[in-house]
Amino acid sequence: MNRPARDAWGILGIPAGSPVEMVRAQYLRLVRLNHPDQFASNPAEQARHEEIMKEVTWAYQEIVQGRAKAPPPPPPRYDRPFRPVDYRELQCRAHQRWAVIYCTVCGAPLCSRCDESLSGYCPVHRRRGWG
Ligand SMILES: [Zn+2]
Ligand SMILES: [Zn+2]
Repeated sequence: MNRPARDAWGILGIPAGSPVEMVRAQYLRLVRLNHPDQFASNPAEQARHEEIMKEVTWAYQEIVQGRAKAPPPPPPRYDRPFRPVDYRELQCRAHQRWAVIYCTVCGAPLCSRCDESLSGYCPVHRRRGWG
């Protein structure tokens, strides 16, 4: 089935032509925010977030596979959880490198140096024994 032209960059909420590391960091962040398992107690919300996850995953694949070229205006608007991109949410605080994973407890962006073993815990929560 042919899909109508959609703006993969707009769906991810990042500027067209952003570096692949940023695309990945934003994708992982949106997966974390929208994962349907979080809404297991609310079927309507869960269904909505399943749709969002499909959109986001489609957009990510379009971009990383090089199909997302010139984005047609206007981009879709989602008030929540889509917001204008904030680099502080995509880069770790310690090194200002792109996140490769987010802390399972607090959601802090973590680069491969912050979390070398990709445990999914920031240094604070690893020390507290969450991991
Ligand atoms: Zn944490
Ligand atoms: Zn770091």
